[in-house]
Amino acid sequence: MYGYMGKILRIDLSNGKITEEFPDENTLKMYLGGSGLATKYLFDEVKKGIDPLGPENKLIFMTGPLTGTTSPSTGRYSVVAKSPLTGIWGQANSAGFWGRDFKRSGFDGVIFENISPKPVYLVTDEGKAELRDAKHLWGKNTSETTRLIKEDLGKKFNISCIGIAGENQVKYAAVMNDCDEPNYGRAAGRCGMGAVMGSKNLKAIASRGTIKIEVANPEQYREEAKQRYEWVNQSLLKMTIEVYGTAAVVDITNNLGGFPTKNWQTGVFKGADKINGTTINETILVERKPCFACPIACGRICEVKEGPYKSKGEGPEYESLGALGSMCEVDNLEAITLAHFLCNEYGLDTISTGNTIGFAMECYDKGILTKEDTSGLELNWGNADLIIDLVHKIGKREGIGNMLAEGTKRMAEKLGKNSIKFAMQVKGLELPAYDSRAAKITGLAFATANRGGDHITAYIEGPAFLAMPFLIVDEADIGDPLQEIPETTKVVKEFEDAFGIFDAIGGCKFMGMVLTGEDWASLISKLMGYEFTVKDFRKTGERIYNLARIFNIREGITRADDTLPARLLEEPMPEGPAEGHVVNLDPLLDAYYEYRGWDKNGKPTPEKLKELGLDWVINQI
Ligand code: SF4
Repeated sequence: MYGYMGKILRIDLSNGKITEEFPDENTLKMYLGGSGLATKYLFDEVKKGIDPLGPENKLIFMTGPLTGTTSPSTGRYSVVAKSPLTGIWGQANSAGFWGRDFKRSGFDGVIFENISPKPVYLVTDEGKAELRDAKHLWGKNTSETTRLIKEDLGKKFNISCIGIAGENQVKYAAVMNDCDEPNYGRAAGRCGMGAVMGSKNLKAIASRGTIKIEVANPEQYREEAKQRYEWVNQSLLKMTIEVYGTAAVVDITNNLGGFPTKNWQTGVFKGADKINGTTINETILVERKPCFACPIACGRICEVKEGPYKSKGEGPEYESLGALGSMCEVDNLEAITLAHFLCNEYGLDTISTGNTIGFAMECYDKGILTKEDTSGLELNWGNADLIIDLVHKIGKREGIGNMLAEGTKRMAEKLGKNSIKFAMQVKGLELPAYDSRAAKITGLAFATANRGGDHITAYIEGPAFLAMPFLIVDEADIGDPLQEIPETTKVVKEFEDAFGIFDAIGGCKFMGMVLTGEDWASLISKLMGYEFTVKDFRKTGERIYNLARIFNIREGITRADDTLPARLLEEPMPEGPAEGHVVNLDPLLDAYYEYRGWDKNGKPTPEKLKELGLDWVINQI
């Protein structure tokens, strides 16, 4: 099969045994690769009810067929496992360059099984794979781990690894890659994949390779990829996101009254102009940084030149500005930037980290957490130094950080006193920085996303908040964002299916704003050597989406879990353009289930499963 290296590693960490395998052609056509193929492995091999941090969980790294090729922004890889944060299907995805280097080292993916008796790291190098002792790396953060491995193996190796947070099994620890300088790195951030890696005593994967990725129609593929690259290079997306980074979104969401502030008590942040893209450009931006084969360069290298927050590193992104900034009522850009850099170092998901700190601040404000719980720390709103202190404590599981390391849902369950009503999570995953009271359809997307409260499963914030054209579906009109319009739920379904393909092929979802489903179907056809139509593009995405849903249903997920925090359903927005609004979810959910071909309880019908070629799962739910 073209586009693949033809080898997936299977590593039994309990005894160090390494084998190679590869799926049959039909499986590849059904699930493509990346998180699609990894989800198939997870579904087949991980039994219902197992402990995500125990030996029975599998940790799967998977590239896609387009990863490392010349199509625009195709450096991505996925990490899939049962999530320790949510207890359901877990997936995280990252760009940078490691995905390319791992694939060119001769492998499409790797499945880790069981637990190593001692810390190890995997080396993949020009078609060979071996486990090495990682004792000297244990206790080191991401950039130090990267530096030490490069010292051992040479500068040409690229590293994906965990920091101290992953070792400590912080429930939302990230897997980081490309941490070549202190504070640098790209994150496979969500769902605690770094904690699963830590639970397996696996510190890193170091990869180097020059093995060619075979393409079915090389000339046509190169030509088409080059043309699409140029289209992206001349797009509106590039003009905005390259210039201001994802921080461009701060002003947009804030002006619409949907920038979550003070643990989502309001959607209007008075300090937005101190942390927005313009301020970053004028104060701390050093350079813009692209991922592999990307014309956009949305990454930022920033530097705080002096003072208590003096530091240089990669970030901050929009989500970090929301989570570590407005959600905690912090408007000190330099402090937020340092907190983000520290998350890169410890290997922490900034979205869950910031949300959890904001939740703790509200608990403290309401007397649910006291100075006795915090060892004397005052968790006051807007305290910039506190954010930094708490990131350290979470990463080390030190003091109150040990409780925060469990995430908002577990904290609320422990603290009680109705705190679950303002724990801003869905299915245990902390929400991104878009308040659904200001754009109702996003509430449906957060409620139904397979990995929990997530914004890039459907990416519906594009049309709902940003008015960005998303070209990968024919119709992306969501009408008045402040109204619940059941017909528009079809857009959520279409987006979920289409964006699932990006995670399966190894592409960046930003490209969905510029290139169409036809563009991607054509590139896939030229690469893989068989006709892959737009219909296949949508159907494959729908199949993968439904399989992850079935995984979750097998774990006990029902309609009751497809919901939002009570704050969004019951507490009217107090001010701004969305003043007085809550989300009325039920009519949206009913319509969405119908478009999906699911029953009233959110379960795919046997007919739908048969249509998708998933009839083999019918008796498993
Ligand atoms: S758009 Fe941004 S995140 Fe996506 S590949 Fe390009 S630089 Fe990386």
